[in-house]
Amino acid sequence: MALPSLNIRFHNTLTRQLEPFVPEQAPKVLMYNCGPTVYDFAHIGNFRAFVFADTLRRFLELAGYEVDQVMNITDVGHMTDDQAADGGGEDKMQLAARRMKEAKKSGKAEVDNPDDPYQISAYFTKAFLEDAKVLRLKIADEYPQHMPRATQHVSQMQAMIRKLIDAGHAYVASDGAVYYSVESFPEYGKLSGNTLDKIRGGAGGRVLDEHQQVKRHPADFLLWKPDATHIMKWDSPWGAGYPGWHIECSAMATTVLGRDVIDIHTGGEDNIFPHHECEIAQTCGATGHTHFARYWMHTRFLLVEGQKMSKRLGNFFTIRDLLAKGAEPAAIRYELMRSHYRSNMDFTFKGLEDATSAVRRLRQLAVDLEQIAGDAKGKLDAGHPLLMAFGEALADDLNVSGALGALFSWAKEDHKDPAADLAALRQVDHVLAMLDAPKPANDDGLATRCKAIDDARKRKDFAAADQLRKQLIDDGYEVSTNKDGTTARRKLT
Ligand code: AMP
Ligand code: ZN
Repeated sequence: MALPSLNIRFHNTLTRQLEPFVPEQAPKVLMYNCGPTVYDFAHIGNFRAFVFADTLRRFLELAGYEVDQVMNITDVGHMTDDQAADGGGEDKMQLAARRMKEAKKSGKAEVDNPDDPYQISAYFTKAFLEDAKVLRLKIADEYPQHMPRATQHVSQMQAMIRKLIDAGHAYVASDGAVYYSVESFPEYGKLSGNTLDKIRGGAGGRVLDEHQQVKRHPADFLLWKPDATHIMKWDSPWGAGYPGWHIECSAMATTVLGRDVIDIHTGGEDNIFPHHECEIAQTCGATGHTHFARYWMHTRFLLVEGQKMSKRLGNFFTIRDLLAKGAEPAAIRYELMRSHYRSNMDFTFKGLEDATSAVRRLRQLAVDLEQIAGDAKGKLDAGHPLLMAFGEALADDLNVSGALGALFSWAKEDHKDPAADLAALRQVDHVLAMLDAPKPANDDGLATRCKAIDDARKRKDFAAADQLRKQLIDDGYEVSTNKDGTTARRKLT
């Protein structure tokens, strides 16, 4: 269903302003999202970026577009110090192998052979897809066609590197590695503001590194690293080795989406520089176009209780950590999407509690509307006030909080045409994906225990009902009874 002529505006990092969104070949929209690295579990910060991409896609679908979404999986090992132009530090896959070997020694084997990087990436890819499905990310249902793995696209990366060398944008340095020559691309720095004069002046200190003596410019970045001893390596005209991190996304975006210029490219704010700056230089250098993505959209970081998430602070959470604490999948999705993507979001357990109630209210509303509507079939009307208000908020640079505000104030109104209202609510849920979300994994047996309480109450055996209720509370559940019966849920903290 297409919403009537929404005036969609998105903030484009490239131009630093709100721009009307006009895809090159409507109704198709080609969108690429920088995806997960699979040497560890993705954390809720990563998932904020992925939930944003999913919400954006679902909104564009609601607005009548056909979205071709591609999200890569980085399964080539890259350096811990990826932000440096040469990627210094230790290889992340090597690091994961070391950690998994330790785990195996202490009896917690995650894979049979921790020396096999393909086993490691397969293990974390599977975990990622499970988590993504919990959060109802549509892209997870399109694996592997729309979720390309870097290791499967090395030949396309090599073809692009070849083109860049031929076009004078890349060179083989004295250390045998292939570098991109940033001075060959006058637009370098346009996305991030890290232009070459600033980098030379020292403002981009992160790109200065120990290899600068072999490079033409300190910001020249790695395209191919010959290293015959590396944990993952491929033959190439420049020696057996592995590709640079940035070339992955340029090659996979253009290959899998099938066009040199795409409509939208997303990532977290840390991707702006150097990753996306370098992607633009590579793709435009190889294709000759002035643009790679026409709209660049970046999510600000997620913080936890006001602090940066870190293992050391003990505030580092994965989706599975939250599920183990009893969080509802739909509430996690709600919490990750509800604040504007261009402001930092503060993840708190209080927020997650509020999200849980919000999701419940929505589900209850759908149940109530279904009951009142009975067999009446709702005619879906694009001019329905809920759809209009919800759509208009999202059209304004994906203002999810505004859209949710509109939804909840509409929910409080009288529902004179429940069938039409239900139809509109279901449309809104195309974006929210909350009404039919899976139940928490640890709900097993809970329904039976709640029913036992209700049965005891029906028998007027209130002592037994109280006893059963107390047991649930002792087990860490919150229990509530209303006219529809007893429900329980695990406390989040
Ligand atoms: P990575 O697996 O580290 O490559 O990250 C995957 C995506 O998550 C990238 O787009 C990052 O920019 C994004 N990201 C990483 N940390 C956070 C965070 N704390 N908040 C929001 N996005 C993040
Ligand atoms: Zn990327």
